[in-house]
Amino acid sequence: MAETVIKLGRKEKPSTFIDKVKQILPEGGNLNACLTCGACSSGCPATGLADMDPRKFLRMAALGMDEEIAASDWPWMCTMCMRCIYVCPMKIDIPQLVFNARTLRPREERPRGILGSCDMALKNETTSAMGTNAEDFEFVVGDVLEEYQENQPEFADMEAPIDKEGAEFFLNQNSREPNTEPDEMVPLWKILHLVGANWTYGSKGWAGENYCMFLADDESWKKVTKTSADQANTLGVKTFLNTE
Ligand code: SF4
Ligand code: SF4
Repeated sequence: MAETVIKLGRKEKPSTFIDKVKQILPEGGNLNACLTCGACSSGCPATGLADMDPRKFLRMAALGMDEEIAASDWPWMCTMCMRCIYVCPMKIDIPQLVFNARTLRPREERPRGILGSCDMALKNETTSAMGTNAEDFEFVVGDVLEEYQENQPEFADMEAPIDKEGAEFFLNQNSREPNTEPDEMVPLWKILHLVGANWTYGSKGWAGENYCMFLADDESWKKVTKTSADQANTLGVKTFLNTE
């Protein structure tokens, strides 16, 4: 992978990128306040990848190295874990800076895996990035539920409803679980059963993963989220429980 080198003494270019991000963040994200202490980099899981770390990234943005930032794959390696802002003594919003750096690339040039998953979620009303339809989801949920009801008598009355009108909670679900690890859905069902929660999945918008957010495609992110929210509203559910 190509190294990104900061050349001291280079002629500074006016940065449009960091200025734009400052405009959309409260207090400008404190992006001018860096002490270069390095605390952010020491705890960042992406430090060292693509020859980059959060402190260096911020410095490059401050130096107006917009082209180099756009060319770097590093913004796509950030997990958005927020550790950097948590440890930063100046509370500098590096995650927002990184997130917005993703928009510097045209949509079709963003990482194929994330792009394909977002596009798949947009194609179906379940919002599943794996393309799982409502019928398959309903079948897997029913099948797994029946197995636990039969094999664990203490959970014989457990429910996993879909489209239950007037429930208290609308629950979403990463579609990897019904597809590849269906038993992983059960611990949460058990907890909800034991506390007596009145909950439901939706036949539409049940898939909780939202790759369009990671793609930094705000319109598609909104569309996926709205599909889930609309289904919760249609069912008259009071509270949306986002498991992702
Ligand atoms: S922790 Fe904050 S102040 Fe320290 S280098 Fe990182 S961004 Fe700058
Ligand atoms: S949010 Fe991104 S930059 Fe900050 S610590 Fe996590 S991975 Fe690193």
